[in-house]
Amino acid sequence: MKDRAQVVIIGGGVGGCSLAYHLSELGWTDIVLLEKGELTSGSTWHAAGLCTQFNASRNNTRLQMYSLELYKSLEAKTGQAVDFHEVGSIRLASTTDRLDEYKRGRSRAAGVGLESEILSADEIGRRWPILDTEGLLGGLWLPTDGYVDPSSITMAMAAGARAAGVEIDRQTRVTALQERPDGGWVVETTKGTVECEILVNAAGMWAPRIGQMAGVALPIAPLEHQMIVTGAIPALAESPGELPVIRDPDSSFYVRQEVDSLIVGPFEKQTKSWSMDGVPWDFEAKLLEPELERIQDVLVRAGERIDMIADAGIQRFVNGPDGYTPDGGCLMGWTPGFRSFFQLCGFSIFGIVTGGGAGRFAAEWIVDGQPSVDMWELDIRRFGPWASERSYYEPRALDVYGHEYAIAFPHEERPAGRPQKKDALFDRLTERGALMGFKFGWERPLWFAPAGVPQEDHSLTFRTPDWVEHVAAECRGVRERVGILDQSSFAKYEVSGPGTRAFLDGLCANRLSDTLGKVVVTQMLTERGGIECDLTVTRTGESSYYVVGAAATQVHDLEWLIRHLPDDDSVAVENVTETRGVLTIAGPRARDLLAAVTADDVSDEVFPWLAARTVDIGGVPVFAMRLSYLGELGWELHHPVEHLLDLYDALIAAGEPMGLIDFGYRALDSMRLEKAYRLWGADISADFTPLEAGLDTFVKLDKGDFIGRDALVRQKEEGIERSLACLTVECGDAIPLGNEAIRTPGGEVVGYVSAAEHGHVVEKVIALAYLPVALSAPGTDLEIDVLDDWCAARVVEAPLFDPQNDRMRA
Ligand SMILES: Cc1cc2nc3c(=O)[nH]c(=O)nc-3n(C[C@H](O)[C@H](O)[C@H](O)COP(=O)(O)OP(=O)(O)OC[C@H]3O[C@@H](n4cnc5c(N)ncnc54)[C@H](O)[C@@H]3O)c2cc1C
Repeated sequence: MKDRAQVVIIGGGVGGCSLAYHLSELGWTDIVLLEKGELTSGSTWHAAGLCTQFNASRNNTRLQMYSLELYKSLEAKTGQAVDFHEVGSIRLASTTDRLDEYKRGRSRAAGVGLESEILSADEIGRRWPILDTEGLLGGLWLPTDGYVDPSSITMAMAAGARAAGVEIDRQTRVTALQERPDGGWVVETTKGTVECEILVNAAGMWAPRIGQMAGVALPIAPLEHQMIVTGAIPALAESPGELPVIRDPDSSFYVRQEVDSLIVGPFEKQTKSWSMDGVPWDFEAKLLEPELERIQDVLVRAGERIDMIADAGIQRFVNGPDGYTPDGGCLMGWTPGFRSFFQLCGFSIFGIVTGGGAGRFAAEWIVDGQPSVDMWELDIRRFGPWASERSYYEPRALDVYGHEYAIAFPHEERPAGRPQKKDALFDRLTERGALMGFKFGWERPLWFAPAGVPQEDHSLTFRTPDWVEHVAAECRGVRERVGILDQSSFAKYEVSGPGTRAFLDGLCANRLSDTLGKVVVTQMLTERGGIECDLTVTRTGESSYYVVGAAATQVHDLEWLIRHLPDDDSVAVENVTETRGVLTIAGPRARDLLAAVTADDVSDEVFPWLAARTVDIGGVPVFAMRLSYLGELGWELHHPVEHLLDLYDALIAAGEPMGLIDFGYRALDSMRLEKAYRLWGADISADFTPLEAGLDTFVKLDKGDFIGRDALVRQKEEGIERSLACLTVECGDAIPLGNEAIRTPGGEVVGYVSAAEHGHVVEKVIALAYLPVALSAPGTDLEIDVLDDWCAARVVEAPLFDPQNDRMRA
């Protein structure tokens, strides 16, 4: 075994081997892959090998599309036999909601260039003659889906990596890890020590134990998944070709042909976690004891749909464990707190279909500094330390498993693992009708049920839910009078020290202000000019700045800041999220409200738009920032968190005579779209530059160098090809929700919706969408696929509400 390598990968399953293969494809070959047993002996060997590209996320779909492309070409590339069965897959629908889900899925697939089609029940019967179509309303056909032997793709990727010079050491268990002062690693194994610059944890369900060796808690719960192989079915032996994979989510099982038998995999409501305190090291190429009772009722339903399953009996049982995360997506990316510890684990039930693409994008991330497709939805930084509490990740992982085949309704909030973080207003807001939603561990108000209205999201639907009228009332209340929202979940950092200005100048695309208390909206960019962070940066002292970002990106943005800190200790970053509460007040009467609780002058002359200063409210020093993400006269009131409840009560008492109302995040989302304000993670991300996103006003190319500047200069010279446009949509009961395909009236798909909502005050359905520049001019007529209906959409001048920003400047 080598004693030194640039990269050490722990784990020889599909994830680790894919990464080794893709790193070698990018020219990195000084790599050692360590496997405690034989390759694939963890969860990979016993997988069913199903590869579907049906995914709620656009970028995850792109990742899975790449995996399949790779698997089809691996044999030619590596000389190792890989048998990809492109049999297609059909998802069955027995309810109209399920069919709606597929229609949304079909539109999303079209937007990303994936072929799919809604089939009638009769057509499904023709393609799967041994299936009982009774009660079926139709299904979704994905012709390029299929299945593969998981071991053969893993072995092929390992062979490819080995041929390029990667060392693969089997029967070599990692026993201890030590981070070197320079950020590199000393890796102890049963066969000696190897040092490396970059360490990758691809240890599947053992990944938490590897994490522990380095002091990192990973939210991965090993769960049991069972499947059966039926006895021989004569009709299959006689059939000329292979049958497509069938998923019957309403009955909660999948089926694929295995020569003349069927593999049937149930997703029962209640599976079990296993070895939560650490999967034994010697669990190698093993299975768990079958527990038939747990899946019996699903198997009965499978037998009703395909009676030959019942007749053929069970030939073989598989009960295999696998590492699940709280949202079912894998953990990918650099581990916060370390210079060079990369995670690629927690694939849940999708390791085979995800492994190929995940290995590629992880390799790009390591070699090029960022993946070619934004991986935020799989990025380990989407979780904070709260997610590694067992009280969260175990019930959450079980819930994800139990809902694997549940309909993924928009806006659904499930209770498992909650609450994690309740701020001091939780009880007060709940008493006042708030329905809470979960974001990055926080419980936040989504909307407020008026007296007599049940305090629940009682209509899960792909069409217009019944809470919309209450959200609309909140929007009107804010725009006509004044509203208050608890935004304490905002991520907040204090950046200070003599090197702060130079440090932030090197990261921010906008010019920071020399004026104390001046709020600057800015993006931080990747080297390629993609939008990595979207923040406000406010000068608070000679060499200190207050940085505020979205709740969901707290760890992400903090890690970006810390990763770029100068080595000379001239800058310190302190995360003050938990110690600062934030109340947002907004609306035409916001100034009256603020003036009613403070003796300080809050007039426009003294306290203009984008100013920030400390005001005294009942003896509490409140750092008031005059800005508004919903486009009104408004302030964010940042304050010591222990005063959150008192401050709220004081504002409510002063505001009620003015018609003050509580509003929630759903109203905020509607109002921000009326202003066409972009949301990071939906409308903007590392996949888009500020020039494409129409955020040119926040970029100052003449301010000096900053990360991403060169890329923007180049893009400016060459011109952009796509840009974010605002559209209004003519649709009925169902509106676009994001990710729908957009086409020209001629039928050519030209883009997709990044976000959409009812604009309750402008009384329009609004969508933001990336379109070719030639089609993004106001007045352009297009069509958006909403539930199989191509709705008329027109590009409009944005924003639709208060285009001159008169209200914010009032
Ligand atoms: C019954 C079942 C059916 C499934 N079917 C499908 C399917 O149809 N489609 C699909 O996409 N996914 C499926 N999956 C999921 C899929 O099997 C997993 O997501 C995937 O195999 C995980 O791959 P991995 O490389 O992360 O982990 P693993 O394959 O477990 O690899 C991790 C490796 O790390 C090694 N390791 C651990 N600790 C150490 C150490 N200290 N030192 C050295 N090496 C170490 C282990 O020995 C192991 O080989 C299924 C899972 C189950 C349980």
